[in-house]
Amino acid sequence: MGDSPQKVTGGCMCGAVRYEAPAPHSIIYCHCRDCRRHSGAPLVSFVGYLRSDIAWSGDARQIYHSSENIERGFCGKCGTPLTWEGYVEELGGDLIEIFISTTDTPDEYVPTFHIWHDERVKWLEVADDLPRYRGWAHDGSEPYAHGPVAKD
Ligand SMILES: [Zn+2]
Ligand SMILES: [Zn+2]
Repeated sequence: MGDSPQKVTGGCMCGAVRYEAPAPHSIIYCHCRDCRRHSGAPLVSFVGYLRSDIAWSGDARQIYHSSENIERGFCGKCGTPLTWEGYVEELGGDLIEIFISTTDTPDEYVPTFHIWHDERVKWLEVADDLPRYRGWAHDGSEPYAHGPVAKD
């Protein structure tokens, strides 16, 4: 990651849905069950934006309403999961979190903390020393661990 703002580009597997955005506001891991279900992966990682930061092109992404006020974006042609979308007052409004693995340069975006760690799959632990929050990180709660947590 460089010092200057860096353009983030990416899209779905078939290329029908594409996006372009500036450097992200946040880079996180999420272990929540809904993100894991949506992606099919044991954990997910996101680059975070205000909705207005992202320029979409090609096909419009499809939206699934996964819970009250939460939307999940995906490609209607190839099914690639693309986003978590919702309103977060603490972070200034409408957010779109994009799955890092859909970016063209995923090595560039290194997550800085873990959220919903209490919902993680128990057979996978990430070997980093990053803060781990039991749930949501943006409500003033403190991380309960830094680094891997013993199995429970
Ligand atoms: Zn697609
Ligand atoms: Zn999640």
